[in-house]
Amino acid sequence: MTQPTMSFSLTPSSWPCDLHGEYAMMLDDGIHPQNICPACAREQNDRRETWRADWRLHRCWKTCGIPERFRNRSFHNYRSSTANKRAAAIASGYAERFPEQYAQGVGLLLTGDLGTGKTHLAVATLTEVMRSGRTGAFISTTELLAAKKPGYSGSITDTAKFATVDLLVLDDVGATRGTDWEIGIHADLLNARYDDRLPTIITTNTPNLAAFVGDRAIDRFEESKLTVRLVGESYRRRVPDDEVLRASPFAIPEPPLEFKAELWSSGKVITRRYVMTAKGDEKIVCAS
Ligand SMILES: [Zn+2]
Repeated sequence: MTQPTMSFSLTPSSWPCDLHGEYAMMLDDGIHPQNICPACAREQNDRRETWRADWRLHRCWKTCGIPERFRNRSFHNYRSSTANKRAAAIASGYAERFPEQYAQGVGLLLTGDLGTGKTHLAVATLTEVMRSGRTGAFISTTELLAAKKPGYSGSITDTAKFATVDLLVLDDVGATRGTDWEIGIHADLLNARYDDRLPTIITTNTPNLAAFVGDRAIDRFEESKLTVRLVGESYRRRVPDDEVLRASPFAIPEPPLEFKAELWSSGKVITRRYVMTAKGDEKIVCAS
C-alpha cells in the first residue's frame, strides 16, 4: 500500500526588498510571473510618470513657436539695466501669479524701442506659464499674416490654436504695413481671445497699436492688461548674442532619452528600461 506523501513548498511566503523590507509573496498566476515589491513598483511608476510628464512639457514647449535662438531665454539670463529692472519684475510677477491673471483675462503689453529685450521677457513669461502646466503659443505678426495668406506652405499648420491656448504671445505687432486685411486678422484673433477671457502678451515698438489691430480690439485689450515699458539703449547692442547666452541650455531642457527602473523582484534587483523615441513611444500627446 502506497503511503500518502506530503508536499512542501520550497518557495518562501515573503520576499526581501533591501529598500522596503519584506513583502508578501503573490501566487504566480502565469500572467504576472515576477514577484515585484509593490513599494518599488509604486515608486518607479511615479518616477516614470514624472519622466513622461517632463517629455510632454518639453515637446509642447519646443513646438509652441518660440524661435530657436530664443529658446534659452529665461528670467535668469535677462540682464536688465537698472531702468528695466522694474519691467522684468512685472513680467516675472505676472508669470508667478498667472492663475489670478488667467482668471481675469489679464494680458501684458511689452513696449519699447527695437531690441530692448521685449521678446526675451515675453518668452521667459510664456516659458514659466507653460512650465506650470498651461498651454501656450508664440507667433510673430509677420508669421501669422504669412500663414493666413492663400497658398501658404510653411511650417504653421494650425492657426486655430492661437485663439484657444491659455496664453498667446503675439510678437512684434506693428512690424507690418497695417492694411485693412492685416488689421482684420489681428482683430479677429484678439477679439476671439477676449470673448473667451484668454490673456495675450503683445510686444510692440509702435506707439499706435490701434493702427495695426483696430480700435475695437485695442479698446478691449486696454481694458485688461498690464503695461511693461522697456527703455534705454538697445538690449541687442548691450547684450549681444554672446558666447554665454549662446551656450545657455534650453530654458526647458530635453529630458533623458532613457528611463531606467530598478525593482526588487523574487529576491533580486531587476532592471526595466524605457526609451523615448522621436515618435514618442510613450504615447505622449501634446495639449496644444
Ligand atoms: Zn521595494
